[in-house]
Order: sequence, then structure tokens, then C-alpha cells
Amino acid sequence: MQTNKTKRTKTQSNKIVDHKAATANKAKRPSNQDESRPSLAAEVKGTGKQIVKAEFATTAVKPGQFPENGWPEVAFVGRSNVGKSSLINTLLNRKKLARTSQHPGKTRTINFFNVEESIYFVDLPGYGYAKVSKSESAKWGEMVEGYLKDRPQLKHIFLLMDIRHEPSANDKQIHHWCKFYNLPFTIVATKSDKIKKSQVQKHLAVIRKSLEEDALPIPFSSESWEGREVLWGVIEK
Ligand code: GDP
Repeated sequence: MQTNKTKRTKTQSNKIVDHKAATANKAKRPSNQDESRPSLAAEVKGTGKQIVKAEFATTAVKPGQFPENGWPEVAFVGRSNVGKSSLINTLLNRKKLARTSQHPGKTRTINFFNVEESIYFVDLPGYGYAKVSKSESAKWGEMVEGYLKDRPQLKHIFLLMDIRHEPSANDKQIHHWCKFYNLPFTIVATKSDKIKKSQVQKHLAVIRKSLEEDALPIPFSSESWEGREVLWGVIEK
């Protein structure tokens, strides 16, 4: 992926984007998220980075079906309804690339998204939906652990947790696997717009304490785009 450090860049449609101005208007999504302008490169605010290509690549339920072209992968995981699809769409500045769930818990596959022909975003199945049977839940564990434990391409994993809630048993399980398999990970506290700004630090601290982590989770919102640049910074490291 290219990183363009200049403050003013040209989009595919030759429109000059002033990143300073775009950053100043943090609370509002830029109008270039509108899919009626398909050729427009998505611009990552503040970094000057543009995402020209982001598309569904393949779906898998077992390792034999994972792509094998060696591109680095960043994975996203969290309980159903945590805001995972919205976060992926927000990072890629697409509206519906990763499907936001109408029926929580429905996604039972590992979905790979081709980003700039150079990296895969990996959407791992959600967990923790109350109506899932024990055997389905075990299958989920096998699938996710199977991916995590033996995937040298996996460079980073984002563990998504709703900022309003304490981590669940499944959240802790995933966290444990990341540590056990020595995977670089970042905890993301989603839906930060749902609580008052003055309460954010307190909620982050609750999650940190529950997981016995040193670092605070990164607050993220698909509504306000809080945390988007920070996550891109982690991906590009
Ligand atoms: P997933 O099941 O983890 O993929 O979650 P989705 O992305 O489908 O989001 C679940 C629900 O939460 C949807 O109704 C989203 O619109 C909503 N949602 C997701 N992210 C945010 C956010 O950052 N802020 C708010 N207010 N709602 C969100």
C-alpha cells in the first residue's frame, strides 16, 4: 500500500483533496463515501493515504480454503453486533463491503477482503449470539483458533469489544489465544459515540482491567470516525 505524506493529494477524479480541511471536520463523514462516485479513491483522513481497491476476495471455513498468495493479513474479531462490519467498512471508506448484520450471529465464514492488491482484511466470524447451539459454538472456536494458530501471514489482530460492556467469556478466550499464540493484537472499544465523552476513559479502563492489559483499548466509532486514523497507523506499522 502506498503512503502519501503530502498534505494535498489528487484523487482519481483529479480533485485535489485538502487533508487539513478534511481533518478539521471530524464529526462528519466526507461526502466521498457516497457510492454513486465509484471511481473515487477513498482517502484516509490525515494520512494522505488513498484506498483505490478494496473488494471481497474469498470466503473460507477451513485452512485449505485460505488464500495462499502470501499477502500479509490483518484480522478483525468480536462478538456479533459489536460493530465489526461497520468498522471494516469505515476503515476502507466503503458503505457495504463487509455486510452489517441484519441477523446477529449469521456469519459463519471467514471472509477475506483484498485491499490494494497487497493486504487482506480478514473478517472472522462473530460469536456470543445467544441462540447459537453448543456444537455451533464449538465449530466457531475450531474455525477461529484454526486460523489464528497457524497463519504466518497474520500480522495483526484487532479484538473488538463494545465500549459499554465488560469483556465476555468469549472475548477473554480470543484474548487468551492471541497471547498464547504470541500474536500482535490491539483491543478496540467500539461504538464510542454511544457514551458521553467524559465517560470514555472510565469505560476503557474497565476493559483494560478485566483483561489485565497494560495499554488502554483504542476507542472507535463508525459514526464519528474516532480512532480510524489510529487503527490505520497500527495496520501500516
Ligand atoms: P457486526 O455484527 O459486529 O458486524 O456489527 P455491525 O457492524 O453489523 O453493527 C451492528 C449494529 O451496530 C448496526 O446496527 C450498526 O449500525 C451499529 N453500529 C456499528 N458500529 C457503530 C458505531 O460506531 N456507533 C453506533 N452508534 N452504532 C454502531
